[in-house]
Formats: sequence, structure tokens, C-alpha cells
Amino acid sequence: MEFAAFADRMEAIEAESADLEIVSLLAETFREAESELPVVVRFVQGRVFPAWRSATLDVGPNLCYEAIARAADPNVDAADVEAKLAEVGEIGAVAASYEFGSQRGLAAFGSDGTAALTVTEVDETLRILAAAEGSGSRDRKLDTLFGLFNRTSQREARYLARIVLSEMRIGVGEGAVRDAISEAFEVPTEAVERALQVSNDYGHVAEIARDGVGGLDAMGLEVGRPVQAMLAQAGTVTDALDEWETAAVETKYDGARVQIHRDSDGVSVFSRNMEDVTDALPEIVEFVERSVAAPAILDGEVVAVDDEGEPLPFQEVLRRFRRKHDVARMREEVTLCLHAFDCLHADGDDLLEEPLVDRHARLADLVDDADEVDELDGPTESAVSTLLRSDDADEIAAFEADALDAGHEGIMLKDPESTYSPGRRGKHWLKRKPDVETLDLVVTGAEWGEGRRAQFLGTFLLSARVEGGGDGRFRTIGKVATGITDEKLAELTDRLEPEILSQEGREVDLRPSTVFEVGYEEIQTSPTYSSGYALRFPRFLSVREDKTPESADSLSRVERLAESP
Ligand code: AMP
Repeated sequence: MEFAAFADRMEAIEAESADLEIVSLLAETFREAESELPVVVRFVQGRVFPAWRSATLDVGPNLCYEAIARAADPNVDAADVEAKLAEVGEIGAVAASYEFGSQRGLAAFGSDGTAALTVTEVDETLRILAAAEGSGSRDRKLDTLFGLFNRTSQREARYLARIVLSEMRIGVGEGAVRDAISEAFEVPTEAVERALQVSNDYGHVAEIARDGVGGLDAMGLEVGRPVQAMLAQAGTVTDALDEWETAAVETKYDGARVQIHRDSDGVSVFSRNMEDVTDALPEIVEFVERSVAAPAILDGEVVAVDDEGEPLPFQEVLRRFRRKHDVARMREEVTLCLHAFDCLHADGDDLLEEPLVDRHARLADLVDDADEVDELDGPTESAVSTLLRSDDADEIAAFEADALDAGHEGIMLKDPESTYSPGRRGKHWLKRKPDVETLDLVVTGAEWGEGRRAQFLGTFLLSARVEGGGDGRFRTIGKVATGITDEKLAELTDRLEPEILSQEGREVDLRPSTVFEVGYEEIQTSPTYSSGYALRFPRFLSVREDKTPESADSLSRVERLAESP
């Protein structure tokens, strides 16, 4: 395809405002592109390289301005181009405002001196330019770019400048490209979408789609080529248990997401945005080289830890994450450790379609992390996340209390049967929402514990105050047993035992004396308690030493909170 024809197409698309029409025009362009299809698809998105490649043209705006100036006129310089840019606001329009070609005799030109630029030639030239490095590379890049501009018409120049600076501005988003591939080659959008998720290469996907849906469906992962990360949305334990009955529960680590690709050539690490961050994280690379023998793609979080292996705030990881210089010195300063929580590929098997629990089992088999404690100077946890399967809100609350105690951010709740959906912020991974407003409730009863905790009061009955309620001043609203350490239980038992009014079995009635601050996910109406309400997922937060039962939260506040959305 001649670059002039491509530019014509782009101009028609840019002038169109109706989405469907844009998709049709794109589809037509793709059908016409023939062997140049992958290049055309990337150019449409202002790209030379696929999204997952970390390679860039490495052409800054100034170099581009200089090349344009040189091709324009001996009297124009980069500052003039920049001034014009400030005026018209967009590099394509600036490039299109000059007449190039006056210096043709000086430029790298087609061998016959007249050949029109093709899409392939522009692509190849830009790739050569991208590969230039070392001394004199800036001048060589400038010469090459000048050579290209010098051969363009005004219309071509508009889109060449935009491709060089990766800003196409023709109103085409990723969704439109996906739909156009589907329309052009009559394959289902979903198949295109899935193939894009596993490859992140629109050009390659378009080529495969041209041969039919079979090829798209067969497209698999490739170790070394990053996949979009599966994302989480906010949710509650209640949501999780209502939806799945049993939840897979993990610590939510406060670090930076990594996708680690291991093959016989070595290890690559990519960020959540699929940027290659391998060089910044040598100890993660070394750990994976040592501990993962088979080809694999792992998903996880890298966390900064202190000398005791306690997690440090997320900002500390950022000091290491994209660093290009001083990596060795920073490695001394900030210790990193890996928590892998998913596995997308193991030893030749793509696992995206496998249930989470099976993927996690493969992960645990794959990673030999026995030596991590010594090697990473401190971390005491395994490199593979612990996954709790539970249908019990109390057990989940206890897991969360442990995670928070250990200095982590909270918990993730995952659907144990869910597949891995790249790039999706779906309902299958929930980051537990922080509590809504807490309640200060009076302890009016308790139960003695069992087993190891038999000599302690374990579960506490909570009540809200009824204004002007006389003797029936308190109405029950729920029980809390979680979030309380053994030490705290002993302290609470000492404090509350003298307040026991009566006992039946393991249950005791207590004289109202103590106020707990309690977190919860939701207030529901319920026949179980005398207030008519129940707390879902209640957790002990603290004893409100500053409050008496008379100043505890009232039933009317509970009512208000229950009614607020
Ligand atoms: P957020 O960044 O608040 O949307 O939370 C989702 C992020 O939490 C993910 O992208 C991960 O980087 C991070 N994360 C920490 N621990 C886990 C885990 N166990 N499972 C999944 N994601 C986790």
C-alpha cells in the first residue's frame, strides 16, 4: 500500500464522526492492506511496535521538529516549528503546513529517484531509526527522519509526523480497531478480543483473523510476551459468600504488580502496564532463575520489606521499580520480596481457562521457595501466596486480622472457580472494601470460648442504646468474635467477668459497662436480634475507653445507617 493511500484513508476516517462509519472505513483499509496488514493496523494506532514491546522509536519531539524544519526550507529551524506548534496545537497540522521536497537532491531517495513511499518502507525506515544507538546516533536518526519527510506530500507528512510522535488523533480507539478487524474478516468480536488479550499485538491478531476464527481461537500465550493483568473491583465478604458460597481468600499485598516470564533463556519481568522492568529487579530475576525450573508465566506483587521482613509502604517499591541507574546501590537500600499469587502458564500448559484454585496449585508446585528467607535477607513469608478457601465469615475475618497485623493492606476475595480474564476488572476478584462508618456498641452478653480459649470469654453480644428506654435500654444487634488477639481476650475477660449477671451453659448476661467500636460491612434487618437488625461481618476494632453505655450509639443511628444506601 502506498503511504499516500494510507494517508488518504486516515484523512477520511479523521473527518468522520459516526462510530459505525469509522469502523467500516477502518475495515475497508484493513482488507486493502494485504501483506502490509500488521503495519497498517499498528500505524492506525500511532504505533510502530506492538503494545507489549518495550522498543520505542526513541525520537523526542525536538528531533522531530528539526527533521521537519530541515525538510521544509533552509530558512526554517526547529524553533520555528515549535512556535507554529504552539499556534496550531498539533504536530500533524504543523507538518502539513510546509511543502517538503525542495531539497530532494540531498535526501535519501528511492533508488530510481521517484518511487512513492510505501507503508512498508516507512515502517522499515522507522525501525532502522529505532535501532540506531551509540555515538552519532542522534544525527543518523535526524538524517533518516529528514529523508522520510522530504519524500512526503503534505497529507502524508501529517500522518508521518503523528506516527513518529505516537499520537494519531483520528478518533480511533482500541475498541474500534477490534471491531474493524472483526468486520473486515468476518470473525466474531469476542474471538478478536480474546486473541488481543493474550497477545497485545493488534497487527498480529489482524493477520491471524484474516485466515478465519480457528487461528484466533488457537492463539495461545507466549512466554516472553506479556498479557494484560486481571484486575479487581471493590467488594465485600458478604458479596463474595453470597455469590460463590466459598471464597478463595488471600492477603492483599501493598506493592507493585509484576508478571514474570520464565523460559530457558532467562527471566523477564513486566509491570502492570506491560513495561519491561527486568533490569530494575535483579533479585526477583535471580530468585525466579533459582526457584522456577520450568517455562512459566507468574502473576504477583513485589513488596519492599524492612530488615525484619515486615512490609514497607508502597512508595518504597517505587524507588526501585523503573530504575535504570544505580540499581545495585538501590538494591542495598530497599529490599524487595515477591508474592506470586497466580500462574498463567506452566511447563507448556496455558492455564487461563483453568479454575483459580487449580492455577494456584500449579503455582505452588512450580515455585521452589525453600531458600527465599535467606536469599532475600529477611522475608519470612513464602514467595507463593497462601490461599484460604472458606465459607465462614469469621474465619475470613480472622485471616484479615492476621494480614493487617502483619502490616499488609487487607485481603483479596476471589472466586475459586474463576478463569483468568486478562485486562478485566470483573466480579471474580474483589478487593475488600474498607469498613463503612463504625458503630460504638455496648457489650451486654458473652460466651465462654472452647478448647484452648475455654477460660476466656470469646464471643461478645453487642447492643445499641434505645433513647429513653428505661430498663430495656439496650437492644441486641449482633455478635463479634473476630479481630481480637489472645492477649486482648484475656484482658477483656478480666474486665468483664465481674459484670456477669447470670449464666446459662456457656452463655452469660453482662451488666452493660463496656463499649466496643465495631466495624462491619452492612446492616440488615433481621428477626434474630431484638433490635430488628443484624451486622454483617462484624469485627472488633477497639474498646471505647472514653465512652459509657449511655453514650454508645443509639438504635436510631443504626436505623439511619441501615437506610442509607
Ligand atoms: P487496586 O490496585 O486497589 O485496584 O487493587 C488491585 C491490585 O492489588 C492488583 O492489581 C495487585 O497489584 C494488588 N494485589 C495485592 N495482592 C494481591 C493478590 N493477592 N491478588 C491479586 N492482586 C493483588
